[in-house]
Amino acid sequence: MPTPERIEARNADLGDGMLVRRVLPTRQRRMVGAWCFLDHAGPVEFAQGHEMHVHAHPHTGLQTFTWLIEGEVLHRDSIGSEQVIRPGQVNLMTAGRGMVHTEDGLTPRLHAAQLWIALPPHMEDCAPAFQHHPELPQWSLEDCTFTLLAGEFAGQSAPTQVHTPLVGLDVLSTVARQLSLPLNPQFEYGLLPLEGQIQIDGEVFQTDEFAYLAPGSSSLDLRVAANTRLLLIGGEPFAPPITMWWNFVGLHRAYVIQAQSDWESGTGRFPKVKGEAEGPRMPAPKLPWTQHASQRTVIPNS
Ligand code: MN
Repeated sequence: MPTPERIEARNADLGDGMLVRRVLPTRQRRMVGAWCFLDHAGPVEFAQGHEMHVHAHPHTGLQTFTWLIEGEVLHRDSIGSEQVIRPGQVNLMTAGRGMVHTEDGLTPRLHAAQLWIALPPHMEDCAPAFQHHPELPQWSLEDCTFTLLAGEFAGQSAPTQVHTPLVGLDVLSTVARQLSLPLNPQFEYGLLPLEGQIQIDGEVFQTDEFAYLAPGSSSLDLRVAANTRLLLIGGEPFAPPITMWWNFVGLHRAYVIQAQSDWESGTGRFPKVKGEAEGPRMPAPKLPWTQHASQRTVIPNS
C-alpha cells in the first residue's frame, strides 16, 4: 500500500479578486509527471457584472489544460481560436514557442481546475495549437462516475493530445464507498479532492489537500465520502529540470529570459488576441535572476 505525502494548497490571487487554491508547484513538490501546475478555482459565485476576466497573457513551453466543472468560460487566443467551454469539457492549449490567451467567465458561477503540462525538449519550440474537447470517455460504476481527461485508464483512452506518458481522471461519487484504482507502477500520482474528502491508508485528505504517491504501486485502495469529486493526475517522472517563471516554462533559463523580453517588447512571437484591448500589455514581474545566480526553478508566487 503506497504511503501518501500530504501537500496543502495555498491561496493565490489571479487579480480582480479571483482567488484560487494552488496545489502545484509548491516547495514540497514541483511536478507530478509532466503536470507542473494545478490551480483549483471555485466553486465561487461572482456578483453580476464582476465575472472572472483573465486578461491577455503569454505562455511558452507548456500546454494549458482546463477542466470545467460548473459555469461557462470564453477562451480567445493569438492563433484566432474563440471557444466557449462548458461543464464536462476540456480546453487544451499547446503554447509551444509562444501563445497569448484571455479567459472570460460568462456565468456568475464558476468551478474549474486549470493545469499546465510541461512539453518535452523536442516540443518546446513547436507551433502553437488549440483543441477543444466537448466529449470525453465517461463510465459509471454503481454511484460513481469516471471521466477520463488525459491518457489511458481502465481500458479507455482520452482524445486529449499529450506528449509524455501521463493520466488525468475525474471521479465523482454521490455515495460513501471504497474504491480500488489500478495504477501504473512507472507513474507518480497526485489525488486532489475538489469537493468532499478521501481517505488513503487511514489518512484523511479534505478538499484541497493533495495526496502525492511515489512510483512503484500497481493499485490504490481508498475511501471516498459521499458527494466527493476527486481529481487524479499522474505520469512518468519528468526527467529534465524545467524553469518556470510567471507564465513561462522552458528547459533553460535563457529561453525564459528571451520569452519575457519578447513579450515586453511586443515582438511577433506573441501576437495580439482578437478583441484584446489596445494599450499596454499585462506586465511581467521583474526576472528573479542575477547574471551569475545558479540554475534553479523559481516557484511563481502569484
Ligand atoms: Mn493562461
